[in-house]
Amino acid sequence: MRESAGLRRTGRRAEKCGRETQGIPQRTGEGKRRKGRKRKEERVRNMGNKKLGFGLMRLPLVDANNAADIDMEKTKQMVDAFLEHGFTYFDTAWMYCGFRSENAAKECLVDRHPRDSFTLATKLHVGFVDTKEDRDRIFQAQMEKTGVSFFDYYLLHDVGRGHYQKLTDLDCFGWLREKKEQGLVRHIGFSFHDTADFLDKVLTEHPETEFVQLQLNYLDWDSPSIQSRLCYETAVKHGVPVFVMEPVKGGTLAQVPEAAERLLRQYHPDRSISSWAIRFAASLDNVQVVLSGMSNMEQLTDNIGYMSEFEPLNGEERELLARVVDIINGNISIPCTGCSYCTEGCPKKIAIPKYFSLYNADRQEVREKGWTPQGTYYERLAEEFGRAGDCIACGQCERVCPQHLPIIRHLKDVAAYFER
Ligand code: SF4
Ligand code: SF4
Repeated sequence: MRESAGLRRTGRRAEKCGRETQGIPQRTGEGKRRKGRKRKEERVRNMGNKKLGFGLMRLPLVDANNAADIDMEKTKQMVDAFLEHGFTYFDTAWMYCGFRSENAAKECLVDRHPRDSFTLATKLHVGFVDTKEDRDRIFQAQMEKTGVSFFDYYLLHDVGRGHYQKLTDLDCFGWLREKKEQGLVRHIGFSFHDTADFLDKVLTEHPETEFVQLQLNYLDWDSPSIQSRLCYETAVKHGVPVFVMEPVKGGTLAQVPEAAERLLRQYHPDRSISSWAIRFAASLDNVQVVLSGMSNMEQLTDNIGYMSEFEPLNGEERELLARVVDIINGNISIPCTGCSYCTEGCPKKIAIPKYFSLYNADRQEVREKGWTPQGTYYERLAEEFGRAGDCIACGQCERVCPQHLPIIRHLKDVAAYFER
């Protein structure tokens, strides 16, 4: 088995040695846990500056209405250009592109390039798993679809409250550890859509996690519902590197309001609007990879242009983005500040500011892509809190809201939007 690109030293050591020397912190003492955290952090420092990852979930299509009809020739050209510029990380999943993304990875990448010139990540979504046997059936199919003999990175897909119990019942974490011990997977992690306290719980219960994939962008950074910053800080606390998904928020941060666009263009006339979003994520020290789901050569050329010699955001650029966030938020539907005064006395325990934040976020999303993550976040929260539609209009919340918001009316809008 040849060695994959990236994290080489760690991978070799992991194959030769036992659990302790794989950088997996043990549960038997804080000293050992600290050691594990330090090793994970060292891996981040060893990554260099090539932080751009190729997300194979929005590949160019022959038939724009058929997600599975991938334009393989265009994809090959993009893959080649990506590798030629020194980038190595490719991210696919079982169900991307109508279940054809992994096949595209084989045809466009694996069959045409040396195994040590790239790293490949894929994922297991527990929504497709009902028995322990299903885990291996899917894993085996993924190896055949992609044509590799091992995956550099393997993720449990979309971990959150809604799936965690099933993942635990089916021992998916233990199963993944076995795959690593067998040399079939080099690094194990999970992608995550939920709140920071839940991330803390999962990382505490699974210290073997080597990386976590988070929704992280400058608009969601301080969002009370998506909690990009808090989730990032939680990963830092556990010494777990972050791989970023949705840095451009599904295209939303490529098309900001006109006033915001003017500000960004004045500062960097030649830079794309989406470059600001990707650079924001890549500027964070603990971020190892920023995924971009590139759909055409133009996007790829743009991305590799500013990411080849990546420069982190400077202070002025950060201030500019803060103003852009203000402008975007100035256009939002419900001007809730997230103070949470309203939630304390609610007899239905409705997560009012969180729902308002999701509603605002979803209204700002680009619609054409058909799916947005906010609905998923809403369902997860609604498992723990009352739903917007549960409101009995008692008025308690409106009496304490410092913004004097018509909360009851807004909750009706939220319920009609997410509970339809
Ligand atoms: S009006 Fe609705 S949201 Fe507000 S406190 Fe009463 S039940 Fe809760
Ligand atoms: S009290 Fe008003 S401003 Fe504060 S979180 Fe609740 S709805 Fe938002």
